[in-house]
Amino acid sequence: MDPIVVIGSGLAAYSVIRELRKLDRDLPLTLVTRDSGDYYSKPMLSNALAQGKDAAGLVLTPAAEMAAQLHFTLCSQCEVSAIDALGKRVLTSQGELPYSSLVLALGADPIRIPVQGDAADAVLSVNDIADYARFRELLVSKARIAIMGGGLIGCEFANDLASAGHAVSVIDPGPWPIASLMPEQAGRQLLAPLAALGVDWRFGTSVSRVDHAASGYLLTLADGSQLPADLVLSAVGLRPRITLAQAAGLAVNRGIKVDAYLRSSDPAIFALGDCAEIDGKVQPFVLPIMHAARALAKTLAGEETPVVFPAMPVVVKTPAHPVAVLPVARDAVGSWQLRANSDGVKMAFLDAERCMTGFVLTGRYAAERSEMSKQLGLPLPAGAEGPLHGAKV
Ligand SMILES: Cc1cc2nc3c(=O)[nH]c(=O)nc-3n(C[C@H](O)[C@H](O)[C@H](O)COP(=O)(O)OP(=O)(O)OC[C@H]3O[C@@H](n4cnc5c(N)ncnc54)[C@H](O)[C@@H]3O)c2cc1C
Repeated sequence: MDPIVVIGSGLAAYSVIRELRKLDRDLPLTLVTRDSGDYYSKPMLSNALAQGKDAAGLVLTPAAEMAAQLHFTLCSQCEVSAIDALGKRVLTSQGELPYSSLVLALGADPIRIPVQGDAADAVLSVNDIADYARFRELLVSKARIAIMGGGLIGCEFANDLASAGHAVSVIDPGPWPIASLMPEQAGRQLLAPLAALGVDWRFGTSVSRVDHAASGYLLTLADGSQLPADLVLSAVGLRPRITLAQAAGLAVNRGIKVDAYLRSSDPAIFALGDCAEIDGKVQPFVLPIMHAARALAKTLAGEETPVVFPAMPVVVKTPAHPVAVLPVARDAVGSWQLRANSDGVKMAFLDAERCMTGFVLTGRYAAERSEMSKQLGLPLPAGAEGPLHGAKV
């Protein structure tokens, strides 16, 4: 019998293999990855400095040990160049591999914003452990760090780097931190605590040029101002890796399109993790991956199982001012309600029926995410609104 082939060795790949092995010890399994296959926790990349960890220290289990524990054939440093969906085989840098089912856990690529200047190539992004190793090497004796992007990842790196004593500037065309997930009143809560660590915020502008300077680099911003830096980190978002799937004729949109069974437009090919668009949604976070992996493992073991997502708040790792957010869809109709604001804010998003469909908790309220999650979907009892500060979005 041809093996189930899993492409990737990130959280999505390893979660589905781990879950599958709980159900079936013997199904033949092959993991193909273009990296080392070592298992690490990607979320730790943006708080590893505070934890005193370098890249080697982030490896939780070496690839060979994962293969022995989970009983799969490991093909590491092996790039998949094409999928032959009709012939049910993948073409790799180490030869062809037939599959019975194929799982795409390919992740996402950092978005690169076009920047002019003779040092434009020096802009780094940190999206995997190899990037992190390079970043840590370059960070030695670099005092001034410029971060392009004040979203979730940019803010986490800003907190981590500033806590470690670096002078950090964050440049973002948006109006406040993490503006894609948080309303203004919540986003602004991060400004002072991170500024107290030394973070210099530059909103409403972007980096146009990065040029070599006598020492380090000189950034020219779209508003005409200039900023010296010793290292430039880009954290402006990720784009699901869809090229292999697209070339194989699978349906793609922003991500590889799959249904609730994680099945693509080809019945033998599945996708999950940062590369996948599940029922129209790309959810590049740990919790959706864990839920998807559990459901997919059952399906691969012979019990067709759709994924059902519970409320999955995202915890932002900014210890200077912790945040938990249950994001609402960009086009959601409703209003934000401020429920408390002392050393942080507690805000609920109410839909047209006045049911809570999302929330943001910052500072002292950040730990209340389980409690808030329990109130989701419940209509607000009459008279229970208190002082409303709803802002139409
Ligand atoms: C800095 C940072 C901090 C984060 N913090 C959080 C957090 O606090 N909470 C949270 O919920 N989420 C967080 N996330 C998001 C979360 O880490 C990701 O959603 C998750 O790790 C993605 O896992 P994945 O397996 O889908 O992708 P990846 O881990 O990117 O794995 C993709 C794999 O596919 C392989 N691959 C790709 N193409 C090929 C090919 N052609 N041939 C062979 N192999 C290939 C790669 O080598 C890699 O092994 C963070 C992300 C980053 C970058």
